[in-house]
Amino acid sequence: MSSQQPQQLKMYIDGKWVASESGAYFAAENPATLATIAYLAEGTREDARRAVAAAGKHATEIAGMSIWERSRLCRRIADVMEQRSAELAQVLSQDQGKPLYAEAEYEVKSAIEGFREASEQIKWLEGNTIPVENGNKRVFTFRQPRGVYAVITPWNFPLNIPVEYLAPGLAAGNAIVWVPAPTTSVIAIKLAECFEAAGVPPGVVNLVTGPGPVVGDEIVAHPGTHAVGFTGSPQTGEHIARRAAGKPLLLELGGNGPTVILEDADLELAAAATASGAFFNAGQVCSATERVLVHRRVHEPIADLLVAQAKKVQLGDPLARGTTMGPLNNRGVADKMDRHLEDGIKRGARVLFGGERARELGSELFYRPTVLDNVSAESFINYEESFGPLAPLMEFEDVDEALRIANSAGLGLVASLFTRDIRSAYRIGEKLRAGIVNVNDTSNYWELHIPFGGVSGTRSGIGRLGGKHTIMEMSDLRTITIDLR
Ligand code: NAD
Repeated sequence: MSSQQPQQLKMYIDGKWVASESGAYFAAENPATLATIAYLAEGTREDARRAVAAAGKHATEIAGMSIWERSRLCRRIADVMEQRSAELAQVLSQDQGKPLYAEAEYEVKSAIEGFREASEQIKWLEGNTIPVENGNKRVFTFRQPRGVYAVITPWNFPLNIPVEYLAPGLAAGNAIVWVPAPTTSVIAIKLAECFEAAGVPPGVVNLVTGPGPVVGDEIVAHPGTHAVGFTGSPQTGEHIARRAAGKPLLLELGGNGPTVILEDADLELAAAATASGAFFNAGQVCSATERVLVHRRVHEPIADLLVAQAKKVQLGDPLARGTTMGPLNNRGVADKMDRHLEDGIKRGARVLFGGERARELGSELFYRPTVLDNVSAESFINYEESFGPLAPLMEFEDVDEALRIANSAGLGLVASLFTRDIRSAYRIGEKLRAGIVNVNDTSNYWELHIPFGGVSGTRSGIGRLGGKHTIMEMSDLRTITIDLR
């Protein structure tokens, strides 16, 4: 792709590849080289409205397919993706910046698995028969598609995260209008090509590229969409919740994952898992290890082990074998890393490793894996997600202090805890305010069917993604009562 003249890529609306009605295109940039790899149609509100109308027109088609037919459709999509997996991984790496062999290939596999998972989970969508007082009545429940789903996705896992909505959404019988992140829309086009090749009926999945505040806003607020699925930042999620007022919402927002390392932890294991949590996907993960809370007595060895882990990271060309970390995806996230480091250092933090960009690698978006020590709980790092390759150490004296810091961030998605004591695992695990607490593993551990989402009272989101949980979120619970008199 990179050696050819950049192509103009169209949107997929009503089963056709179409330009924006404005005729405008915007450049898709490879973050590792800053070269333009394609031009994407810059959708307008009118384009988004066309997509909503198409989905509305075809919603009954997908809803009318039997669950077994929809299950087979998901399997066909998985098969097409598998046939095209080498190409998908290449494009994903060039569009997002993640290393091809260490990560992009895995994301493609996981996205394929997402469609297979949905094809299985949907077959167990049973309803209930409800006992009632009135002997002449029979009452039962069942689930139906919600209708037209507006789906908006971010750039950190631009295949996997869309599949987390699209696979269960289709399996559950919804028509979809999808707006991907502008900085990773080339891979979205490739996924839409797979839908077409797999025989998804025209108009059932519609892809609109362009600025989120324009096309994303239109599909969220439009009365023709009946529910919204969104993964992204808390700020945008809250805005969307207001714009979508009254519609069912599935919101997967940010995290500021604390990892708590107790003094009885296996330190080698804790350091390796923490480094993986902080550096995987260059830290651009909602479940990333964003803060490393370490007991005073094991602080020094953990700091040394984390630096040793950071030194092992191979930062460089995402397409080269051996590379384990690529550039950050965009300027916004790189600038945020700068701001967080500057603020943390001003408040007393010390750089043990990294702490700067690696511009010599050919793009300003390369950031060295960074270990910071002595990070103050007053820092932005403690309150906001950094979303970069950062392992910030914060020392605690006792468990109460660790919990106070861990739970102070206002976000509550994922946490991890290292201890050899099963009682601490339960007692502290239950008190960490997060949707998932991983004991003795990286904060990023997750499998496709495990319920994933933010804890109430935090800014991490609403609802749960994962296996049957997404299917429940993306379908309506309906009841029929029958009078037998
Ligand atoms: P973002 O909120 O800026 O953008 C997310 C998506 O929303 C993009 O497609 C964007 O174009 C669109 N958008 C922006 N403004 C919009 C508007 N006004 N109306 C409708 N759509 C709009 O987030 P981001 O920077 O792309 O992604 C990073 C964030 O996503 C981080 O906060 C991260 O934690 C979060 N995230 C969460 C999860 C999760 O599962 N909880 C997973 C991945 C990323």
